[in-house]
Amino acid sequence: TVSSGDPDVHASRSAQLFERADLVIPGGVNSPVRAFHSVGGTPRFIREASGYTLTDVDGNDYVDLICSWGPMILGHAHPAVVEAVQKAAATGLSFGAPTEGEIELAEEIVGRVAPVEKVRLVNSGTEATMSAVRLARGFTGRTKVLKFSGCYHGHVDALLADAGSGLATFGLPTSPGVTGAQAEDTIVVPYNDLDAVAQAFAANEGAIACVITEAAAGNMGAVAPQPGFNEGLRKLTSDNGALLIMDEVMTGFRVSSAGWYGLDGVAGDLYTFGKVMSGGLPAAAFGGRADVMAHLAPAGPVYQAGTLSGNPVAVAAGLASLRAADQGVYDALERNSATLRTLLSDALTAESVPHRVQTAGTMLSVFFSEDPVTNYAEAKAAQTWRFPAFFHGLLSRGVYPPPSAFEAWFVSAAMDDRAFSIIADALPHAAKAAA
Ligand code: PLP
Repeated sequence: TVSSGDPDVHASRSAQLFERADLVIPGGVNSPVRAFHSVGGTPRFIREASGYTLTDVDGNDYVDLICSWGPMILGHAHPAVVEAVQKAAATGLSFGAPTEGEIELAEEIVGRVAPVEKVRLVNSGTEATMSAVRLARGFTGRTKVLKFSGCYHGHVDALLADAGSGLATFGLPTSPGVTGAQAEDTIVVPYNDLDAVAQAFAANEGAIACVITEAAAGNMGAVAPQPGFNEGLRKLTSDNGALLIMDEVMTGFRVSSAGWYGLDGVAGDLYTFGKVMSGGLPAAAFGGRADVMAHLAPAGPVYQAGTLSGNPVAVAAGLASLRAADQGVYDALERNSATLRTLLSDALTAESVPHRVQTAGTMLSVFFSEDPVTNYAEAKAAQTWRFPAFFHGLLSRGVYPPPSAFEAWFVSAAMDDRAFSIIADALPHAAKAAA
């Protein structure tokens, strides 16, 4: 652990809570990257949030550039979403029987992403990808899954190989506890490398059930598919009788109202969604071609289920969020992402820090690299040692980016001139610290 950063917070309430948390929660957190492991220092415990501002338990405010790792495109505590959640909660928290809201949320998703004809609600992105892969195997009768190094699809055993996000942050190639058999059925090739995909199909003829890809990668940092890459995956999977799973858990309903599909129009056979579609409550979804989805229980033989799936409160939050996300929201996300990119780049240029501010739609990341980053090897080859100082330079001046060099940064539509003036004031210090 790098112990750079914030000496002044050692006596803070966050520090006290972190110590207390560590006694009863492994590492003191319920998801690893929250622990500030790779940047050092004390994770801030959050008391409340509104719009673009996170407030910690010591009363410090931060411009939030994590947005709960993606969901909060509208900003925090958006009135329409809060009202919908309160209304739903007041009429019962969970029934274990179908509700009209589930249909409405499914219709909202199907109406936005044309290749999705049917959709099933689950509770997390991990469940969505796990279920989509099982369905692809059940549908094709094949066993192998092809994924890309640096792409993260949740902590599904078979998909943890060479994954980005937390595994990248912690430098893990895969996780102990994933069996040899599970890893054996996973083929991992470099992102943006169609030749490697073609070779994998040639070497595993008739065995690959599906290719799963982040529609645009965000978990090795923001790395967009190169022109023709997603189209190439479409062709190679079709030619070889495999399904293409577009993981839009991160990009879905963020980069456009139809997600990454709305930007490149390449149709997957199956899709996974999470984050934005549930407005900050735990709900996610997988869906796609009706003939493939027909293989799911109860009508079909592939089993999948969930006690809380389609939970009425989570569904209400998701519906309210998607309905509030009009074109004005997407325009604001574009504007805010572009403004942030310029500010970041100008500040780092002023200090002669080698960098690339890369975007994938409105997601962005700072790579301390002279060259563009197109895959995980290049992301790891960047000067990530600069990141902890850069991160703490921002955090100590009221700006909260993701605490890892391998994550996408997220803007919200709630950001205004004041948010950007806080960022503009903090950046010169952070850039100097990273130099
Ligand atoms: N797929 C992608 C592309 C993700 O970014 C994530 C989470 O960050 C997941 C799947 C897993 O989602 P969850 O954390 O809700 O399980």
